[in-house]
Amino acid sequence: MGLTRKQLLSAMGAAAAAPLVAGAGEPRVIRRDVCVIGGGSAGTYAAVRLGDFGRSVVVVEAQDRLGGHTETYHDPATGGTIDIGVVVFEDEPFVRSYFDRLGVGLVRIADGGGGGGTTTYVDFRTGRRVDYTQPAPVALPAYLQDISRFGPIDTILDLPEAALPELAAPFRDYVAAHDFGSVVPFVFNYGQGIGNVLDLPALYAINTFGQGVAGNILRGSFLTTAARNNSLLYERATEHLAGNVLLGSRAVKVERTRSGVRVLVTGPGGARVIEAKKLLVTIPPLTRNLTAVDLDGTERSLFGRFTPGAYYTSVVRLSGLPAGVGLDNVAADTPYNLPPLPGLYMVGPTAVPGLYNVKYGSPAPLPDAVVRHEIRAGIERVAAAGTYPVKFEGFATYASHAPFELHVGPRDIAGGFYRRLNALQGRNRTYWSGAAWHSHNSARIWAGLETLLPKIAAD
Ligand SMILES: Cc1cc2nc3c(=O)[nH]c(=O)nc-3n(C[C@H](O)[C@H](O)[C@H](O)COP(=O)(O)OP(=O)(O)OC[C@H]3O[C@@H](n4cnc5c(N)ncnc54)[C@H](O)[C@@H]3O)c2cc1C
Repeated sequence: MGLTRKQLLSAMGAAAAAPLVAGAGEPRVIRRDVCVIGGGSAGTYAAVRLGDFGRSVVVVEAQDRLGGHTETYHDPATGGTIDIGVVVFEDEPFVRSYFDRLGVGLVRIADGGGGGGTTTYVDFRTGRRVDYTQPAPVALPAYLQDISRFGPIDTILDLPEAALPELAAPFRDYVAAHDFGSVVPFVFNYGQGIGNVLDLPALYAINTFGQGVAGNILRGSFLTTAARNNSLLYERATEHLAGNVLLGSRAVKVERTRSGVRVLVTGPGGARVIEAKKLLVTIPPLTRNLTAVDLDGTERSLFGRFTPGAYYTSVVRLSGLPAGVGLDNVAADTPYNLPPLPGLYMVGPTAVPGLYNVKYGSPAPLPDAVVRHEIRAGIERVAAAGTYPVKFEGFATYASHAPFELHVGPRDIAGGFYRRLNALQGRNRTYWSGAAWHSHNSARIWAGLETLLPKIAAD
């Protein structure tokens, strides 16, 4: 199989040191039609749906749970749950059918799934209140109509050649050319984690705030789980996939040949060799994430163009804020009042009194200690400025979701980067999915996968 004896022994040695908490007695060689690397939104959906196509799968997931960016905090004191990662899903038939089959109930946010509350606008650089009213998104219907020129830009980045210069130019130019200013605060808020939206190539703002998101805003149709626990979807998916999920596991060597794929995996069940007909990779395609994979020159050079942004989420304990009040970060002195990043996005009340969800974004990854410090400092400035007598009483939980959005530069976009990227699908028996291939939106990822699955499932 081409793995050296040394590599195999070293991987098995590492695995032997770990407790055999699962999989004792299971075969060391796992044969499946498809090996899926990464069990977040893309990998889990693909694994469940490939079963419908009659294909056997195994999912290799680094964490001890499926779900990736879907993350739920369980408050030990009250038993309450807070979704601190993915919160909303588009109302689409394939979304409802996925939740239905796994027995997870959905409600519309507009029907009370969102929790309500009031917002105070604060400039977290000073802690001072800003006299700001979010504009009504009057341009949204025109925006929705205009972006249809770019095809399903939030689902498959199959971009029209003629539009590449426009999509490579900064989003601020696109906004100015079409008088879409009233949409900008919505793009910023729905684009949390993607960076300073006005400066980015228009592609990334429109990809995040595409037909799916804009349409669901206009229809007021976003969904969340009735239990306010989106991780339930992934717990049920883990049961559904039964023995076909390797948690706490990593691929340490991947070899792709004309006849198949061999993946050496280490994890709590010991070292395994997966022999599959095809590979589906759903982790962020940064070269540093793919050191185990025998990338060819084209793959390596394309993935080497990506730079990552960063998104962080936490639950903090606060006292001194009036019940139901949340703080949104707006800048007193910038175009559209967008706060400069790195910075806080918001401090939002949750269903658990005294606990607040705080989100933080940065155009590039930062050390966790810096982000934690900045979150605390921002909240303390609100008290120091006399805006609210809010007191920071600690983190209940904190999670880095870096690397988050992957970008390439304007010249790459204009030069057809995404055409070359999409041409990788199926090459070397490998398919690719996840946010970098669709958008940072579960429903769009699942829609994108629906177009790929027949090809992955084909012999
Ligand atoms: C705070 C936050 C809020 C969000 N809110 C929403 C929302 O409300 N609605 C929405 O639709 N989207 C939301 N998103 C966007 C979200 O990123 C996408 O919806 C979707 O979850 C991305 O799916 P993915 O499969 O690409 O990545 P992930 O879900 O991150 O899955 C990748 C998986 O690969 C695993 N992995 C990584 N490296 C390895 C490795 N070497 N080996 C094995 N496994 C590995 C990871 O542990 C992870 O489980 C939010 C994201 C964040 C961070």
